[in-house]
Amino acid sequence: MIRVLTEETINKIAAGEVIENPASVVKELVENAIDAGAQSISIEIKGGGFQLIKITDDGSGMSSDDALLCFERHATSKIADIEDLFSLTSMGFRGEALASIASIARVDLITALKEGSGTHVEVEGGKIRSVSPASRNQGTTFEVRSLFYNVPARKKFQKQASAAFAEVHKLVVTLALAHPEIGFELTSNEQAVLKVGPASGATFLEKLSFRISDLFQNSFLTTKLQAKGAERDYNLEGILGTPADHRINRTGQYLFVNRRPIFSPQVTRAIKEGYGQRLNENRYPIFVLHLNVPPSLLDVNVHPQKKEVRFQEGEFIRQFVKTYVHQAFGGLAPLAERPAYSFPEHRESWDMPLTFREKPQEVSALTSHEQVIGLFKHYLLLDGSTVNGYQPGIVWVDLQKAQQQLIWHTLNQPQPEALAQGLLLPLGMELSSIEAQEFSERQTELFRYGFAVQCSGKQSLLIEAIPPFLDETDAVEAIRLVLQSGEDFPQLSEKVACFAVRRKKSFMLQEALTLWRKFKQLDLREGITWIGMNAIENFFK
Ligand code: ADP
Ligand code: MG
Repeated sequence: MIRVLTEETINKIAAGEVIENPASVVKELVENAIDAGAQSISIEIKGGGFQLIKITDDGSGMSSDDALLCFERHATSKIADIEDLFSLTSMGFRGEALASIASIARVDLITALKEGSGTHVEVEGGKIRSVSPASRNQGTTFEVRSLFYNVPARKKFQKQASAAFAEVHKLVVTLALAHPEIGFELTSNEQAVLKVGPASGATFLEKLSFRISDLFQNSFLTTKLQAKGAERDYNLEGILGTPADHRINRTGQYLFVNRRPIFSPQVTRAIKEGYGQRLNENRYPIFVLHLNVPPSLLDVNVHPQKKEVRFQEGEFIRQFVKTYVHQAFGGLAPLAERPAYSFPEHRESWDMPLTFREKPQEVSALTSHEQVIGLFKHYLLLDGSTVNGYQPGIVWVDLQKAQQQLIWHTLNQPQPEALAQGLLLPLGMELSSIEAQEFSERQTELFRYGFAVQCSGKQSLLIEAIPPFLDETDAVEAIRLVLQSGEDFPQLSEKVACFAVRRKKSFMLQEALTLWRKFKQLDLREGITWIGMNAIENFFK
């Protein structure tokens, strides 16, 4: 026999998907408060949340009509139709949370659009029990009692109150890091657990930094490094721990995309790559990192409990995150941003202390105002009429080729060693016996490429400085290339240049411009193509 399910049953089924434990109730209610523009949110918990969850906000509040309507399934003020799902910026969006919560608990809602005249709605097991006028300040209070009282199966599997509260606590910390401009207060059985006021600061990063100190005192990060970057419509801002602040698990990692806490192995890996060799394989950096990504380029999982997102431009995101995390350490951009390493006077005597030179001079700015058309993979496109020495059309720069030439050019300068750059932590490297033999003969040659290397054992090396054009992660392999090749300088320099750029398939805009400026300054030409207006017009005929 086919039966039509009642609205109450449907709500209970939906609740099963959305509401797993007290923490899920807190999440839904706090996110609603955030969506309502609250400046401060207070969260009161009793009995791990099974007894009471009370959320008070100073947001927009609701009219008495809305106060009744909000418990209906699919009642939402956040989207009107399916199109809106793709441009979504608010937290909740399905209008299901309140209907679900109300179906499995006793709920009191007190809300007011402005001081004084408010509404009190009582709901139990999904049924409205009473509606009456109430007085309060602008904002909303939800009191959720006896969670799961009418879902015996769910209740039996619930953890102890203390474990349930621990989850709530973790969630509130995460939400507080997602929204530094909002104040949060959390109590458990009337004991204050956490209290942070709206973070002060002129910029988002300042606020975030303030929030981190406020929340963790100094137990989380001893030194805060700031990461900041923007490319196209992507934006990254975050606070990173130094390598010394690492952990042996991922507990200190807070990642947000468009203010939502998310889980993304892809981004976490890119962050780790940004730390390079500063961290061992099995160590994890700690960070609070915010990414802003155009919603249309995200595959948001519409299931409210899942925190994983997929990026449509995965490889771009990887490079983007890696580059700007890298730069937080004082810059390890591919071209000359690390502190220059100066070789001891007598290259062969390694007992001298190693010294570091100052950062090399910035490449001078462009003289004319060159108009960038865009960046496509490893090509930079410029408006020809704005580039010195070119006619109207498109100047098409192959950045990979340009970088390769620059490296080759640098290596073939009379004093290439001035460009060697010190590593914060020296790198170890094991050699085969043949390589060890080769090393004793070619040590000086390695200097020429910008490596400062010394023996740390019969068959092991310590790498203290590397050429600026090389990624730290490639250093060991590059030394092998030199040791294993039969060729000598300068033939080998071309190979080294080629090696250094081989994996560089995309560029960040800032990086591309620095490269292009330097390239022009040296008057190098290879890799530049000019497409004249005639050719372009003919193409579109
Ligand atoms: P959703 O958040 O997906 O829209 P909910 O069931 O969580 O669905 O909430 C339903 C509606 O109730 C919201 O769209 C909003 O209009 C209103 N609402 C819920 N909580 C609040 C609040 N704290 N302040 C103001 N309005 C709220
Ligand atoms: Mg919601």
